[in-house]
Amino acid sequence: MSGSWIRPKESTFRTGLKLFNTLTQSKEEFFTSSGDRRVYWYMCGPTVYCDTHMGHARTYITSDVIRRILTDYFGYQVTLCMNITDIDDKIINTSAKLSIPWDEFARNWEEKFFEDMEKVNVRRPDILTRVSEYVPEIITYVDKIIQNNYAYVSNGSVYFDTEFFKKTHNYIKLEPSAQDDVEAMQVAEGNTDVNSTEKKRIQDFALWKKSKAGEPFWQSPYGEGRPGWHIECSVMSSDVLPCPIDIHSGGIDLRFPHHDNEIAQCEAYFECQQWVNYFLHTGHLHIHGRKMSRSLKNFITIKEILKEYTSRQLRMFFLLHKWDGTINYSETSLQESIGKEKQFKEFLMNTTAALRNLSLKTPQKPNEEDRILLRSLENCRVKIHEALCDNLSTDRAIDELSILVNKSNIYLQGHPRYLVLSNIRGYVLKTLEMFGLEYSEDNKTSDFDPLMDILSGYREKVRSAAREKNFAEIFKVSDLIRDADLPKLGIILEDVGKEGSRWKKGNPDEIAIEIERKNKEEEKKRVQEEEKKKKQEEMRLEKEAKMKIKAEEMFRDDPKYSQWDEKGIPTHYADGKPVSKSEGKKLIKLWEKQKALNSN
Ligand SMILES: [Zn+2]
Ligand SMILES: [Zn+2]
Repeated sequence: MSGSWIRPKESTFRTGLKLFNTLTQSKEEFFTSSGDRRVYWYMCGPTVYCDTHMGHARTYITSDVIRRILTDYFGYQVTLCMNITDIDDKIINTSAKLSIPWDEFARNWEEKFFEDMEKVNVRRPDILTRVSEYVPEIITYVDKIIQNNYAYVSNGSVYFDTEFFKKTHNYIKLEPSAQDDVEAMQVAEGNTDVNSTEKKRIQDFALWKKSKAGEPFWQSPYGEGRPGWHIECSVMSSDVLPCPIDIHSGGIDLRFPHHDNEIAQCEAYFECQQWVNYFLHTGHLHIHGRKMSRSLKNFITIKEILKEYTSRQLRMFFLLHKWDGTINYSETSLQESIGKEKQFKEFLMNTTAALRNLSLKTPQKPNEEDRILLRSLENCRVKIHEALCDNLSTDRAIDELSILVNKSNIYLQGHPRYLVLSNIRGYVLKTLEMFGLEYSEDNKTSDFDPLMDILSGYREKVRSAAREKNFAEIFKVSDLIRDADLPKLGIILEDVGKEGSRWKKGNPDEIAIEIERKNKEEEKKRVQEEEKKKKQEEMRLEKEAKMKIKAEEMFRDDPKYSQWDEKGIPTHYADGKPVSKSEGKKLIKLWEKQKALNSN
């Protein structure tokens, strides 16, 4: 008989991670059985017959955090298999009372379970196994255990022979003190199996249960019946994962007899001494210091809790506690997580805003403040790594991250440098998201951003103009936002009458071309207008000059003529001939016109 844990061989992929292993009751360095990054993990899933409650939240959010750290921080390649218990006394009894087919009833609650898990950001397992889909495999598995002499058929049921198993194996590895906990054994076997006369010993547990009248049943070599509770996990994990598996997890309540019996079944099936290398049990959740139970009426469903707290606040609550410790839930115990979550959320919002106004084009040579903060970042990374290696101490990791954020907030009030700030921000965001606290959506750039820049800039200008009671300036910036800023975003703002305005959307490039053409046309018009004005001015000047010549003098210097009368009107041409009658009339008309100009 081998009672001790077999330490897995040192793997080539080694991270320094230590996990609290229920099998040894101590922290053990984590080595994969593959030797490389691959991790095979089986997690006991829910029995689907009621609303998901805080106990489920504790187990599944905490497991999700562990899984995310393993994959997203340490770089393990995890294959997680989770089962759904959809054949169970509670499902059969409750669905019968409601006159709903048990399978429909179970599927309905399973759907609700995954809806709730999505709300609290729990990633789906890689493989999902439902008991109802595994009955033939369960029968084959039970058969093999019988063949290996670790089980016996009795009155249509099959029982595990604990006494025979103990001869070559260590039974009850996880909770040895429960060896004589007959009550726990009977509760696990279900009230219908109190009749112990068909079992050799009270400790023996059912692998296959003979069906009672009216219960759902499957045909088997032992008669009509259904699987016992523990066998499903052994069968389904053996079907999709190798032996040994690296990690088996579940809530601490499942430690005995469920997990101890799973181990016994698998060791009996594989004829091996160690089916699971690391058994992880997520801790209890107590409500106001007491165990959560229906009888105490302190049952809180996930739906209820999400009406009062956000999914991120809830996750922060679990992150601030050790994954394997007991958590006491109360309104006051949640206050700390609300504060912490707010601190990180606001830091990310503030740094997003600050970075918008900073640029990489400015000098980036770190000064003393930059250097101090960069050293804090370095220090924080080292400490978080140590905390996570030490049994995934998320509480310590969050504390370290919080210290870094406090220092960065002070730095932010000085003269932050773009690269330093974006580095710190990137690290904080990445770490929070690694824990499953997602903020990228909140802070991602959107189509609104350039509009917000314009709007806040416009508001500033209007406020400053209003302060100076400069109404012309307010009109000017209002025209500017219409003519220059908004068209860049493809927004055409039109004034409709004196009171209203209307906005339309268009293609920014097309609008830009249109504006360019309009500008060119306006320029052309302006040039034409200018030329016209210039011409008019020239004419005016000419006229003015003309006005200055006296009518009596206007023909005097013309070499065409040789004699003039007393008014200065020509009478003879240069060759001595008198001016013709018609020309004489014309000359008089011109003379009179000039005379009139002279008198103006
Ligand atoms: Zn299980
Ligand atoms: Zn407890």
